[in-house]
Amino acid sequence: MEKNALFEAFPVLAERVPHTPFAQLPTPIEAMETLGERYGLAGLYVKRDDLSAQAYGGNKVRKLEFLLADARKKGKKTVMTFGAAGSNHALATALYARQLGLRCVNMLVPQPNAYGVRKNLLLSHRAGAELHYGANIPALVMQSLGRALRISVEERSFPYIIPAGGSSPHGLLGYVAAGFELARQIEEGRMPVPDLVYVAWGTMGTAIGLSLGIEAAGLPSRVMAVRVTDPLLTSERGARRLFGRTNRLLTQSCPAFPRLAFPRERFTLRHEFFGEEYARFTEEGLAAMDCAREECGLRLEGTYTGKTFAALLHDAAQGALAGKQILFWNTCNSRDFSEEIAGLDYKKLPTPFHRYFERDVQPGDTPQP
Ligand SMILES: *Cc1c(COP(=O)(O)O)cnc(C)c1O
Repeated sequence: MEKNALFEAFPVLAERVPHTPFAQLPTPIEAMETLGERYGLAGLYVKRDDLSAQAYGGNKVRKLEFLLADARKKGKKTVMTFGAAGSNHALATALYARQLGLRCVNMLVPQPNAYGVRKNLLLSHRAGAELHYGANIPALVMQSLGRALRISVEERSFPYIIPAGGSSPHGLLGYVAAGFELARQIEEGRMPVPDLVYVAWGTMGTAIGLSLGIEAAGLPSRVMAVRVTDPLLTSERGARRLFGRTNRLLTQSCPAFPRLAFPRERFTLRHEFFGEEYARFTEEGLAAMDCAREECGLRLEGTYTGKTFAALLHDAAQGALAGKQILFWNTCNSRDFSEEIAGLDYKKLPTPFHRYFERDVQPGDTPQP
């Protein structure tokens, strides 16, 4: 395994920023030649963050390397995090917290039903996470506060709070590092400098961290962030703040790290592929998933990567990407867990989650491997 690309670029950070290596980095970059040629692209590539770790891949592991190490450094015994019922982030936190002997409390809100929701709930439960269901966000906030206070009495310390999606400055460092990793791979000749990088925009962390990393590494690439979450939860203003806070964490830990302005001209937020609501699949998204599977052998999902790939295919079909170098950043786990969940009984989960097993999944969903 190579050294984390951020620490390689700024060795001082390795001494000052807590970090636990869980991921298998760098993740591969692969060419999708047939599809690229069909639309007249100069090149079409995929960054395989679906292969980021043996235990559970996808984008959350890069963030958790920094978040859970920070929790440990602060002497915490418990981490508390938030998400929708089928949150990949909540599952990843459960799995990696367990590896470090940290207790994990997941506070979850409702979402449209899907096979992936069932899978993530079962796996989170099996990983020993404490699962709580809140009927809506205000209710969940109150429950979380109550739960956190009880834990702080038991453990004499407030739990380490990880925001939804792991999108705090410490979490974003994982994607700042990914930007440096991309720069290193370009230098090694794995792909030309991309004109555009397509990436999902959920809780903003992946796209903003990556954008910061790309800027700091001196790449001229533009980030195309495809929004898949409710506009009430994410905004360009919030994004600029998160960018600034993460940049400050870096410059405070390492004065040589560049001070950067939010790259407005190299950052585009796309709203047209969201559909009706978070985790509600769209026709374009489902079609993009079929295309990715058939043409490139990629296994995407309908909440994030299907919608993001749909944006790329749409732009390509419009001719907007002709002659350009394009990188699709694949943020979902692709490891098959069907054997692990086969023998698990959903009735062992807290009762409010049984609905995801007793009601139908949404139209267009197919069993996830
Ligand atoms: C969480 C997630 C994202 C979004 O990442 P953010 O950092 O929250 O924007 C994208 N893809 C998948 C598969 C995810 O689980």
